[in-house]
Amino acid sequence: MADVPRWLRRRLTAEDLDAIAKTVAAAEARTSGEIRVHLEPRVPRARIGKSLEPLARARELFTGLGMHRTRDRNGVLIYVALVDQKLALVGDDGIHARVGDEYWARLRDGMVERFRREAPREAIVHAVESLGAALAEHFPRRPDDVDELPNTVSLE
Ligand code: CA
Ligand code: CA
Repeated sequence: MADVPRWLRRRLTAEDLDAIAKTVAAAEARTSGEIRVHLEPRVPRARIGKSLEPLARARELFTGLGMHRTRDRNGVLIYVALVDQKLALVGDDGIHARVGDEYWARLRDGMVERFRREAPREAIVHAVESLGAALAEHFPRRPDDVDELPNTVSLE
């Protein structure tokens, strides 16, 4: 099981991280899409000293984690800065063209609502399951599917 950094401990346990990774694997069993969760305490400061917007940070991570290189451009990143209580979702062009802005807004609202109830594991698991269903609809899994990106939670 994963080591849980100190900033994460009060919010998620190793068991929670494991459950999230299993949910990603289960979601990807039905789709060629790739889902990744990245958690860090705070949205880092940009060089000019101002905090990055969560979406800008998530886009940076999307590229940094190589998520733009999936065959069908259907990677989705769930980004949460837990201490800052900020989150952002980035879907690659393939999936974005199919679900549209309203889908992301709804998914995001569902996460925010669960975080407000202090249910971080539920917030993330629910988002992964919902994404899995959307990805399965537009990008069903093929027999030759490859797990293009790790299912484990990426931690700063
Ligand atoms: Ca895959
Ligand atoms: Ca994967």
